[in-house]
Amino acid sequence: MTKIPDHLIKEIGGIFELPAETVLFTHVNPDGDAIGTMLGLYWFLSYLGHRVSMIIPNEIPSYLEWLPGCEKILVAEENFEQSIQLMRGAELLVCVDFNEPERLDSLKDEFIRSKAVKVLIDHHPGPKDFTDHIISIPETGSASELVYNLIVQTGHNHLIDKKTAECFFVGIMTDTGCFNYNSSNPETYLVVADLLEKGIDKDRIFRLVYDNYSADRMRLLGFSLSEKMVVMPEYRTAYIALTREELAKYNHVTGDTEGFVNLPFSIKGIKMTALFLEKEGYIKISFRSRGNFEINKFSEKHFNGGGHKNAAGGECYTSLEDTIKTFLNLLPLYKQDLCSE
Ligand code: 5GP
Ligand code: MN
Repeated sequence: MTKIPDHLIKEIGGIFELPAETVLFTHVNPDGDAIGTMLGLYWFLSYLGHRVSMIIPNEIPSYLEWLPGCEKILVAEENFEQSIQLMRGAELLVCVDFNEPERLDSLKDEFIRSKAVKVLIDHHPGPKDFTDHIISIPETGSASELVYNLIVQTGHNHLIDKKTAECFFVGIMTDTGCFNYNSSNPETYLVVADLLEKGIDKDRIFRLVYDNYSADRMRLLGFSLSEKMVVMPEYRTAYIALTREELAKYNHVTGDTEGFVNLPFSIKGIKMTALFLEKEGYIKISFRSRGNFEINKFSEKHFNGGGHKNAAGGECYTSLEDTIKTFLNLLPLYKQDLCSE
């Protein structure tokens, strides 16, 4: 198990031992690790006697809606006033799976203003200083594994029941691409072994997460690969860009393009991939890299983003065409880094 330093176990464990009016948060455009970690922590803190609420900035992708407790999550985009009122009544605010307040989107200002005790538990490198307490361990493959470790190291393994285990397993499975990356630490498998001991049905969870798409999504995937993928072997880079019109044609819903960014890695030699999605008023970008190319730094520097060393995201406020131009103009500057290995 990735050991969380003893002083942090005492500090954060001590806070969690005192039941409070608690609100949990995770990042905008949440993925499996974001929601899985938040729900796992929800069940744990509820069992410790906290009155727990969960607030997220925008919608939950449908492939996560089956997770135990998901229906209790308040979506600020739809219930802004209620979200703010809940935050005002809170004594403890806990953030998971993100490292800067901007990722709270519309909730950021109220979060910063709040006088409640604030805790961050995360695995993204370079966390910003916006909470009173922080556990940040970038070596851990997922925030779910980190919160699992925290619970175990505070002596509460017995409180992890089957539904809590399901939540953490979804976080671990999705943040490692089904044990494809970020999963070479043997300890991760000890955690998974324990979650299996708790009674989770791993195969069912896989099906619920990955075999849950519409036919339209599969057709969008085919279209993206056959018509839209651009491969530039000279930069060991490939990207896909989708306009609003194209997304609408395939009845795109949140979560449909999850995983698209990873697909060009199946092409021999590719080291960097990007997915550009045209949204209302901005372009959302997903970046991935292989090896030592630090895609989080690239995204932070050029696309108002951040993330992990090999998986990051960003935003651009120019047109889709101009965003791609900006990206293409950067490639020659990084050619050496991209082509050195
Ligand atoms: P994804 O491409 O799957 O949306 O995100 C990949 C990783 O980058 C995740 O760890 C996610 O939290 C992070 N990320 C995605 N978009 C942004 C962004 O706009 N800003 C920052 N700082 N991180 C992002
Ligand atoms: Mn994560």
